[in-house]
Amino acid sequence: MPKEPTRLPKPELDLDPDHPHVADWFHYADLLTDAERADLRRVREFLRAEVAPVVLEAWDRAEFPMQLVKGFAGLDLAGAGYADPPASRLFLGFLHAEISRVDPSVNSFYGVHTGLAMGSIHAGGTPEQRERWLPAMSRMDAIGAFGLTEPHGGSDVAGGMETTATRDGDEWVLDGEKRWIGNATFADLVIVWARDTDPDAGGAVRGFVVPSPSEGMTITKIEGKQSLRIVQNADILLDRVRVPESHRLSGGSGTFRDAGLVLQRTRANAAWGAVGVQMAAYELALSYAAQREQFGRPIGGFQLMQDLLVRMLGNVSASLGMAVRNAQLLDEGRGSDAHSSLVKEFCATRMRETVALGRQLVGGNGVVLENRIAKYFADAEAMFSFEGTREMNTLIVGKAITGQSAFVR
Ligand SMILES: Cc1cc2nc3c(=O)[nH]c(=O)nc-3n(C[C@H](O)[C@H](O)[C@H](O)COP(=O)(O)OP(=O)(O)OC[C@H]3O[C@@H](n4cnc5c(N)ncnc54)[C@H](O)[C@@H]3O)c2cc1C
Repeated sequence: MPKEPTRLPKPELDLDPDHPHVADWFHYADLLTDAERADLRRVREFLRAEVAPVVLEAWDRAEFPMQLVKGFAGLDLAGAGYADPPASRLFLGFLHAEISRVDPSVNSFYGVHTGLAMGSIHAGGTPEQRERWLPAMSRMDAIGAFGLTEPHGGSDVAGGMETTATRDGDEWVLDGEKRWIGNATFADLVIVWARDTDPDAGGAVRGFVVPSPSEGMTITKIEGKQSLRIVQNADILLDRVRVPESHRLSGGSGTFRDAGLVLQRTRANAAWGAVGVQMAAYELALSYAAQREQFGRPIGGFQLMQDLLVRMLGNVSASLGMAVRNAQLLDEGRGSDAHSSLVKEFCATRMRETVALGRQLVGGNGVVLENRIAKYFADAEAMFSFEGTREMNTLIVGKAITGQSAFVR
């Protein structure tokens, strides 16, 4: 008989849609309504059947599994935040946590489309513009991207934006470069933020719906990304790209304030993404601790390993609690930029620790992709920096609590 290799224990993520997540130790999901729970059950079933089986290979190849677009469309939730009445922020938060728990890159794809791109049209568009683009985006027949960041403008993009928009009759001419734009390699439209060159405009930043690809647009995938490898991020070169005036988002303030509204919303959702990653890391570590034996007993029985698990559970519980309360305040119309910034800052910082502790508990096997914890460990890094770095969110909160701005400009 040929010798069989040893079967190693594997950290497992419970994907049964009917099981409560063990990481929700304080039963926060009980705050949802029965109808919301039923919707999340459908989401979990889709994540179990279609997302979980493909993400390891997709991550390894740094490819987006395009078939997931159809699956997400089938859930019919992409427009839920803009419906009448809109879905609750609490529900949308749990939705992002569920997706991120299974894969944060996939959550990033979904968040860019539903939150950043659709959110820009909702916040900045006229009723006609909303009617023109949002139904197709809700059906996911048209996928959106959001072009704000630039090669020289990350944290400082509002003040330092170099992409320009020049009015030419009934058209605008866009020139410049965008960096990091999620979904851009296959998106049907990109929201491009650009500075109006009219001297009377006072340097206002305006949003444009740019069909993609458009003449003069060069989209190049960013290769070699070691975090969130599934979501497709791209550099976009804009060389005299023309769009009609009807594509300028003109229903809101028509300035950067519209982008700020969108970011407040998506920043809160990014915090939920960090919650989902922590849930996964904790649950994987707990499952491994029960299976892996050393010194003749499961490592979960060692005091030092229990310390790691309890720290992880404390992190995920505190993050979830803060995300829940922030969502409730947003639902009541009492949320603020600073609240969402603190939640994003806190959850993302705790996430970074939680995934490291989980990886530590799984030992050497924790650096192997098939054991999943390595993926969350790597993915946490980009999540820590996008939707406002820790420092930017700290400055926003610092200003709110002291009344003094420590921003450079
Ligand atoms: C995977 C991924 C996906 C993304 N998707 C999108 C997208 O779809 N659309 C989009 O527009 N953008 C996207 N981004 C861009 C993201 O929003 C930026 O990376 C982020 O805003 C930070 O900008 P930066 O990376 O240029 O860092 P920088 O702004 O260069 O910052 C570098 C460091 O300096 C610190 N710093 C900067 N200024 C100060 C200051 N005044 N005080 C103290 N510290 C400071 C920062 O906190 C950070 O630690 C994405 C990024 C990533 C990694």
